[in-house]
Amino acid sequence: MARLVMKFGGTSVADLDRIRNVARHVAREVKAGHDVAVIVSAMAGETNKLVGFVEEASPAFDAAEYDMVVSSGEQVTAGLLAIVLQNMGIPARSWCGWQVPIETSDVHAAARITNIDPQNLLSSWEQGKVNVIAGFQGIGPDGRITTLGRGGSDTSAVAVAAALDARCDIYTDVDGVYTTDPRIVREKARRIERISYEEMLELASLGAKVLQTRSVELAMVHKVPLRVRSSFDDPDSPLQVQDNGSGPGTLVCDEDDIMEQQVVTGIAYARDEAHVAVRRVKDKPGIAASVFGPLADANISVDMIVQNVSVDGYANITFTVARNDLRRALDVLQAEKDNIGYESIDTSTEVAKVSIVGIGMRSYAGVASKMFRTLAEKGVNIEAITTSEIKVSVLIDEAWLELAVRALHTAFDLDAV
Ligand code: ASP
Ligand code: MG
Repeated sequence: MARLVMKFGGTSVADLDRIRNVARHVAREVKAGHDVAVIVSAMAGETNKLVGFVEEASPAFDAAEYDMVVSSGEQVTAGLLAIVLQNMGIPARSWCGWQVPIETSDVHAAARITNIDPQNLLSSWEQGKVNVIAGFQGIGPDGRITTLGRGGSDTSAVAVAAALDARCDIYTDVDGVYTTDPRIVREKARRIERISYEEMLELASLGAKVLQTRSVELAMVHKVPLRVRSSFDDPDSPLQVQDNGSGPGTLVCDEDDIMEQQVVTGIAYARDEAHVAVRRVKDKPGIAASVFGPLADANISVDMIVQNVSVDGYANITFTVARNDLRRALDVLQAEKDNIGYESIDTSTEVAKVSIVGIGMRSYAGVASKMFRTLAEKGVNIEAITTSEIKVSVLIDEAWLELAVRALHTAFDLDAV
């Protein structure tokens, strides 16, 4: 019998009707002969509400007690789903993280899973029961409840799948990973059938918020096949996962399991960066260090960096930081003004980063130049560039974001036909 982990996010368990719908998906897989473990999130909006209570209780709060409170949302849905399954005649039992146990580090609100002993879950399968596990939570070395950071149930699911040597289906409110945001490229964005872990990591960290980034890292390390699919599909649809891996949703897998590789798999964008230009610094050794050293000391991460050609012995250094770090970055640079010796600083938050991602880039030359040419033809100016082995990112004026994404989607043959 194949082992299967099924994870359902907050919108999929938002009320009892939806929990009943989830139970029908579980019932289908049980009837197909699988050993099933289900990971559930809290009902949509519930975790935010709990975080609100904590903040209202005290502006400075004990992180261990925060975890005690915010982990409770998942406990409720795990119990409710077990009840609904039992009511349908499917033996099931619920588990809190500590009961499994899902052992974690001691960093409250951002704990990492360190170990999962699968024994209890395996014995419960031997008794013919579905395991329903509260996501997002675990137990720290000192025996206290921990949580894994917002969106952490994805990571719970992948970790449990790795411990059980199971595949992992993530049910959410979209029917897969798309070539780009369908809200921007209406009708032309396509569902991706298969995507490699590495590409998914780039897209996830760039704001395609389908999966928590850490869950993808974990799946890559443990080679857990991960499928993103919609819980709103008809639970009794005959279109289910086939032995060859085809089926609904998007399969996130090893690149070797992808036969037809596109050069560019997806286009992501982010509006959460700000642009900083440090004008007229001396073009001499040590200047870049005098700008970026103090920023690093202040724990401000810098993303894209451009230093322009010096004309009269002076250059401009421009870079981007997260928008919520902009204020702090300016404070740091102002404090260092004499040391750096710049003339002025300009900033802009009206910028957006657009990225093309694809492992095919490793073996094709000219991908970046095609991107630049495409944007030039649309009159979109590029303010900064960064690249990695499988990604090219450009910073542009936010006003051109949609135009740029659409043009690139067409240029790299991603449009649905
Ligand atoms: N309920 C938690 C959150 O909202 C964890 C999760 O849903 O993944 O962040
Ligand atoms: Mg989520």
